[in-house]
Amino acid sequence: MGHPSIHDRIESSRPGVARLKIRSAVTLLVAVCLSMAVIVIWEGWRSRQYHLHDKEVAMSNLAQTLSSQAQATIKQADTLLLTLVDRLENDGIDGGRINRLQRLLSAQRSELSQIHGLFVYDETGRWIANSNGAEVGVANNSDREYFIFHRDHPDRGPHIGPSIKSRSSGEWIMTVSRRVNHPDGSFAGVALATIYLSHFLQLYDSIDIGSNGVISLIADDARIVVRRPFHDADIGSSLSKSPLFTQLLPVSSAGTATITSVIDGVERVTGYRRVEGYPLIVFTALNKDEVLASWRKESLLSAAIVSLLLGFLGVLGYRLIKLMKQQNRIQNELLGAQDKLLEVNRNLELLALEDALTGLANRRQFDLFIHAEAGRARRNHTGLALLMIDVDHFKAFNDRYGHLAGDDCLRKIGAIIVDTIKRPGDLASRFGGEEFAVVLPGTDYVGAFLLAEKIRSAVLASGLEHSESPEGVVTVSVGVCGYDAASQAATEDLIGAADKALYVAKASGRNMSVIAN
Ligand code: GH3
Ligand code: MG
Ligand code: MG
Repeated sequence: MGHPSIHDRIESSRPGVARLKIRSAVTLLVAVCLSMAVIVIWEGWRSRQYHLHDKEVAMSNLAQTLSSQAQATIKQADTLLLTLVDRLENDGIDGGRINRLQRLLSAQRSELSQIHGLFVYDETGRWIANSNGAEVGVANNSDREYFIFHRDHPDRGPHIGPSIKSRSSGEWIMTVSRRVNHPDGSFAGVALATIYLSHFLQLYDSIDIGSNGVISLIADDARIVVRRPFHDADIGSSLSKSPLFTQLLPVSSAGTATITSVIDGVERVTGYRRVEGYPLIVFTALNKDEVLASWRKESLLSAAIVSLLLGFLGVLGYRLIKLMKQQNRIQNELLGAQDKLLEVNRNLELLALEDALTGLANRRQFDLFIHAEAGRARRNHTGLALLMIDVDHFKAFNDRYGHLAGDDCLRKIGAIIVDTIKRPGDLASRFGGEEFAVVLPGTDYVGAFLLAEKIRSAVLASGLEHSESPEGVVTVSVGVCGYDAASQAATEDLIGAADKALYVAKASGRNMSVIAN
């Protein structure tokens, strides 16, 4: 493909095409901005999911570690209880043995820092031995939950009761207990180990879980055993309505989730795990808002950058489109100017088809016209006639009256010719010098001769003074040629024949019309 033609350029810059271009530019701009926004939002969403998932994994790992720690801590106390129960059941309880037992408990307790105390109660709840060396037989703990539990359940497994404030020391403790049986299997009492809650809290407080994070040990029956942050009122409260117990634990003994706390209503990213061998659950949680704080900062920053970019792009695009519109306007103006120029050119062309002196068709128009009419006559088998008119003794007229008067005379003769031919299809033209040619489509030589005579006599009758002419006035000679439809003669022959007839008219004395033979 070469350069686009002027026509193509004009076509492509038509207002419709230009509007289409601007619309495409706007669409492109909007599409780019929209895709950028979508990408940023999508990336932000993915990063948020990643942040949450990352913390869920961290919480799950923490729950795993703390569950092992809780298991180890309780196992140590529980192992002592197992030994104690075994002894009580095999050796029985009497005065001397109790004293020895008391000393043993005391020794074992001092070995394990997490243990607050070891206690033995008989089937009435009477305190028969304790590790703290207090007076035996003073207190009765038959009202305690663990005592009632073991009295009513023949189950031999370890029991973890609600956390309590110790009657002996006033400190918060967790209870692990086992049932003691008589040889016949009936209830003989309870062996109890109490563990400082502070032992767990110290560890939990040292873990970085943010200012609003939670670590809890929860009993199987949904009661809180210990919770960081520590509030007296929370201990023992039930979580049975929490999604942890209603949805998560029934499905899996360990996992992660995002749930809203029933204690303080805060939404948290959590991990949980059952402690192996004990009816306990470790629960770890981070405040979701805190988890997302860094993400939020990051997203805000990238959103700000992208907004800035979008703004920049918008301004740039706006300017570009404005420029395009401006360009279109200028182009339209240019097109308008071009149209005007074309019209001027057409007028010029029209002018060039006219003879400047007489206002008749010029030689060029005559040529175009006679060729077109000759073709038509040949095709339609119609007639075509031609008159060649020449002013007589015109050189003498010029010499006698001057060139300007000659011009005036030519104008007058032209007007007489135009006035005489009435049919709109006829063409009167200035053939050159003082010669005129009249083309008469659809006319035979008879009709043409009659018209020639009319012109000749009209010029004569107009009485333009010409002292050098034998008539005393200006006269014309006319050569007439009728074009025979059957002859298929060329246009040049027609002109030649008319010319010859004109020559004959001149030679025969002028001021006459002669038909070509
Ligand atoms: P004839 O009767 O044989 O035609 O003689 P003539 O003098 O008319 O013929 P000739 O060809 O010898 O002279 C034509 C003259 O017409 C010559 C020229 O001066 C004059 N002429 C041609 N064109 C113009 C014109 O535009 N204006 C004027 N004033 N004279 C013209
Ligand atoms: Mg002449
Ligand atoms: Mg002449």
